[in-house]
Amino acid sequence: MSKRDYYLVLEVSRTATEAELKKAYRRLAMKYHPDRNPDDHEAEEKFKEAKEAYEVLTDAQKRAIYDQHGHEGLAARGGGGGFGAGDAFSDIFGDVFGDIFGGGRRGGRQQVFRGADLRYDLELDLEQAVFGHDSTVEFTTLGECEPCKGSGAAPGSKAATCETCNGVGQVRMQQGFFAVQQTCPRCKGRGQIITQPCDSCLGQGRLRRSKTLSVKVPPGVDNGDRIRLAGEGEAGRNGGPAGDLYVEIRVREHAIFERDGSHLSCEVPVSFVTAALGGTVEVPTLGGNVELKVPNETQSGRVFRLREKGVKPVRGGAVGDLFCRIVVETPVNLTEEQREMLRQFDSTMRTSSHNHSPRERTWLDGVKRFFGTMRS
Ligand SMILES: [Zn+2]
Ligand SMILES: [Zn+2]
Repeated sequence: MSKRDYYLVLEVSRTATEAELKKAYRRLAMKYHPDRNPDDHEAEEKFKEAKEAYEVLTDAQKRAIYDQHGHEGLAARGGGGGFGAGDAFSDIFGDVFGDIFGGGRRGGRQQVFRGADLRYDLELDLEQAVFGHDSTVEFTTLGECEPCKGSGAAPGSKAATCETCNGVGQVRMQQGFFAVQQTCPRCKGRGQIITQPCDSCLGQGRLRRSKTLSVKVPPGVDNGDRIRLAGEGEAGRNGGPAGDLYVEIRVREHAIFERDGSHLSCEVPVSFVTAALGGTVEVPTLGGNVELKVPNETQSGRVFRLREKGVKPVRGGAVGDLFCRIVVETPVNLTEEQREMLRQFDSTMRTSSHNHSPRERTWLDGVKRFFGTMRS
């Protein structure tokens, strides 16, 4: 019997995407699956044909050969040949149907369960996040029970094979039109029934216990960054692997600095005299104080950028900058003498022909215009 075109078999176009191929194959497999068509030789052939077409067309290399040289090309390469009758349920089947029924097939072996992942929120100061920190995390987790080595059976006793599933951990159930593999309800997928539970864990195989780990936090981490400690989560069951521990970074608010990625910003209070005459102010950085030259007639709100006084990001890249926002301070606790000097100073300003308050002037003009439009 000559082979049919793979695209015709799956009833898709020659430009079909992987998702389209998967959809087409799923539809045909549902229709011709041997479980739905017992003793129907023709359906079985169609099922195998669809499976073969799907396998070839989802393999980029085989698809390229097929597109150029057809079936002969594949036969010459020794790929894409016929499939034995026994492999109708091979791994690719589980791959396609796994997402429908949850969990792939496990080839008749009893199920193992990976332990759950855990999350630990680690609070750090900004300095610790920026420069790195050796932290200690203490948390409770489900660990393997030592006396029974995780089996749940009392030491010296043996678990019995589950009779419902014959130790497989899964049972086949007819659900509507389709046979479905389900976790065995009796043994919960373990494949074994514990007749004499372990005293320590009461048959659970795992015990809640506290655990302490040291965590090396690399420099440059930020809020929300996660450090994965493989295998430090909850213990698995039935010999399954342990889950992972995710240490999630929380950076405490800082009294001076705000952080935005690799950049830092802070406010720098400056006396109104320094702001007017210019001068030097001490500015804190994470690497110690530095001097910032404030030019004369600096207005409140002006931002100065100190290059590379920010943070070196943990994932690499340039060191950020420190943005210093000037806040001009109004003097307080003035003596009567100081007040008088300010009054005199103010009267010289008022009689001067220069504009000493550019912002106030602009603002006043704006106010006048505003009321003007109101009246008209
Ligand atoms: Zn069972
Ligand atoms: Zn135990």
